[in-house]
Amino acid sequence: MRATRQGLPLVDREIQVLGLIAQGGSYSEIAAALHLAHASVKNYAASAIKKLGARSQAHAVHLAYQAGIFRRERHGDHAGYTAHIRRREPICDDCARGEIAYRAERRTTRRQTSQEAAA
Ligand SMILES: [Zn+2]
Repeated sequence: MRATRQGLPLVDREIQVLGLIAQGGSYSEIAAALHLAHASVKNYAASAIKKLGARSQAHAVHLAYQAGIFRRERHGDHAGYTAHIRRREPICDDCARGEIAYRAERRTTRRQTSQEAAA
């Protein structure tokens, strides 16, 4: 459960909007990215802030991280991939691609490190 201080779970759109705010997105940018009206983004942000019992956007982002609200939504990288494994569920396409990129990157880093050590 995405329990919050107020006991009301956030809906997916509120989590999405808050996640993009956490990444520095403006209401206009978030509206464009999610194909929503500017006013809708404002409403989702306001209700997320209220449900979290936060005093500001920054406070809401902080509380959401503490409550682990974003962790469930994470996909497309190594952390998302390991989260699927931990939950014993199939790996989604985004996370499968992210994991391949992560492993390729690690191989490259390891090769560079051993070459530097040999030099
Ligand atoms: Zn995933």
